[in-house]
Amino acid sequence: MRKHPSARATVSMKARHTLYTDVCQRRHIEACGLLLGHIDGLGNWHIDRAHPLRNICNSPVYFEFAPEDILAVELDHPGAIIGAYHSHPGGLKVASSTDRDNMKRVNKEQQIPWIWFIFSGPFNGTFQRDYEQDTNSSLIAYHHYDTIGLQQITLEFENAQDDGVRKP
Ligand SMILES: [Zn+2]
Repeated sequence: MRKHPSARATVSMKARHTLYTDVCQRRHIEACGLLLGHIDGLGNWHIDRAHPLRNICNSPVYFEFAPEDILAVELDHPGAIIGAYHSHPGGLKVASSTDRDNMKRVNKEQQIPWIWFIFSGPFNGTFQRDYEQDTNSSLIAYHHYDTIGLQQITLEFENAQDDGVRKP
């Protein structure tokens, strides 16, 4: 499990809406939060909801969660946290070296199977069109595998019709 190099992630309409709204509303700092859903037996991530959290650094170039904020989400949704997201207002389209270190630490050393979403700015009209037209040029997803290291994960967006049917 979770060693499958062709694993992908599906994202519900509801989660996408939350993500794009949050990133736009906090466009001048790194927006960040958690991804909720489940991981199937093949190691694919199924993201039902996104949960914005405070960036305690309030910074355009760095983010950090408050541990108590993560704990509160875990208590509300036991076992449902399957990833994290953050934004790069400065436009960096790939993981920074800090991001790579974090992903490796959590995925490999701590053996927590999170997926990582990074949204790249600027968060203007192009970003909005990206959302409306179901493209994902502003969004990249990663996972650091034990065996093959950091990999980009393919994303699939669910249709509006699917939303509300799926349960976590
Ligand atoms: Zn980053």
